[in-house]
Amino acid sequence: MLTLPCAMAVAIVPGEADACHESKICVEIPVSAADQPVGDFGVSETVVARGTRVRLVTPGAEGVTDVWLDDEGCFTYESRYRYGLKLQVFPEAFLGVNADVRIRGFDDRPAAVVGIEVSPTVGGTIPWRIDIDYAPAGNADSPLVVHVNADDMADMFGWLIESFYNVDGYAGITGSRDILVHTEIGDAQAALGAYNSGDLIMLGPIARNRKFIVAHEFGHWYQSNWTGLGLGVDYLYEDNGEADPTAAKDADCDFQNATNTEEINDLHGLRSAEYSAEAMSEGYAQFMATLAFNIAVEPEGSGEGEYQYYKEIIVANQPSYADLVDGNYMVSLLGGTLESTVGGRSAWVQNMCPADWNHPLLPESLGEHVSSEIDWMRFFWGFIADPDPSISMFGTPPDLRVVLDLFSAAGTLEAQDQYGTFEVAINNPSNASIFPFAQRFESIAIKNGVKSNE
Ligand SMILES: [Zn+2]
Repeated sequence: MLTLPCAMAVAIVPGEADACHESKICVEIPVSAADQPVGDFGVSETVVARGTRVRLVTPGAEGVTDVWLDDEGCFTYESRYRYGLKLQVFPEAFLGVNADVRIRGFDDRPAAVVGIEVSPTVGGTIPWRIDIDYAPAGNADSPLVVHVNADDMADMFGWLIESFYNVDGYAGITGSRDILVHTEIGDAQAALGAYNSGDLIMLGPIARNRKFIVAHEFGHWYQSNWTGLGLGVDYLYEDNGEADPTAAKDADCDFQNATNTEEINDLHGLRSAEYSAEAMSEGYAQFMATLAFNIAVEPEGSGEGEYQYYKEIIVANQPSYADLVDGNYMVSLLGGTLESTVGGRSAWVQNMCPADWNHPLLPESLGEHVSSEIDWMRFFWGFIADPDPSISMFGTPPDLRVVLDLFSAAGTLEAQDQYGTFEVAINNPSNASIFPFAQRFESIAIKNGVKSNE
C-alpha cells in the first residue's frame, strides 16, 4: 500500500477527508494495589504513561506513526482523519532525567529463573490495543485521554514507571540502562513474590499488586545501577540457628514465621535483627519505595513519609508484631513516638532488643553490631528530610544524590558494620568535597540507632 504523509495526501486527493490537522492524545494506565491509598503519589486510579512507546494507525494511505510519549504521557500527530484510528500502547518506556533508561515489560518468564544467575528472554512486548472512534482536531489544550486495559501488566508497568519518574527527579541516574520486568516467575520466586537482580525485576501475582513492593525492587535496581555495587543478601543472623547458635533472639526482632520457615520470604522482615549491611540494603530499598510515593520535604508534603509494609504477619505466631498489624502495617519514616509508634518506635533494635544490637556475632567480629530495616529506612529518610531542630541545626538537608555518592565512596555494601564502612568513607579527606554533611549524617544515625554505641 502506498503510504502518504498527511499534508501530501491532502494535496493529491483533496476533499476525500478532513484537511490535514494536528491532534493530541494522552495515554493513562489504570492501576490498582492493596496499598494504593497510602502516600502522596499513586493514590488515583491511573498513572500517566510517561515515556511510553505507542503506534498510531490512521485510515487510508497515511500509514503508521511510531512515537514515544512525553513526560505527561502525550503526543501530537497529523492526520486527515478523526474517525477510525487505532492505537497500540507497548509496555515499554524511555525515561530518565540524565539517562536513557529503557523499561520493558514481558508477559512471560525469563529463560532461567531459579538460582543466582538469571538470563532473561529477549522478545517482543505485547501491546495494548485501543480503538479510537473519534479524535477531535486542534485539541492541544484539551487532549483526548485514552486508557489501556486494566490487567496484570498494567499494574506492574504502571507502578514501575511511576516509581522511576518520582525518584529519578531527585538525583538522575546516568547512562544507558535497562529494566526488564516479567509477570511470570518461577515456583521458587512465586513464594518470594518479588526478586531483583541486575537489570531484571520479577514480580509475582501478589507483589505487582503492591506499589511499595514494585518500588522496593526498583529501589534495589536504582542503588545497584548507580553504584555498580551488589547487595549484601545474607540475612543469616535472623536465621540464628545456623549463623550464630548462641544468639538469643528477642521476639521483637525475630521475624521467623512458624508456618513458612523454609522460605526466603521469612528470613528477614521490617523489624528483624539482621547483619548491618543486609539491614541497610533492605532499609534503603524501603526508603526508596517511600520516596517514590511521598513528597519528602515540607512544605510541599507532610514530610512524614507514609509507608505500608507488605509481608504477612500471623499474630498467633508473632505476637510481638501485633501492634504493626493493628496499625494496618503503616510506618512513619520520621519515626514514631512512645505514645504513637506508627510502625515501631525509633531506634528499634537499640530500644527493643539491645542484646541483639550489641550482640558479639562471632569471636573475630566482636563489636560489630546488628541493625534492622526499619532503622535504616528511617535513617535515610531523616538524612534528606528530618526537620527536627537537633538534626537541622547541621544545615540544609542534602539530596538523594549525596546518599548515592556515599555508597560509591564506601566501595562495599557488604560489611557487617555498615555504618562503620560509611564513616571511614566520610572521614577520608579525599571525599570531603562530595560529603560535607558528616555531622548531620552522624546525628541522624545516632537518632535512628544505626550507629553502634561502642
Ligand atoms: Zn529487598
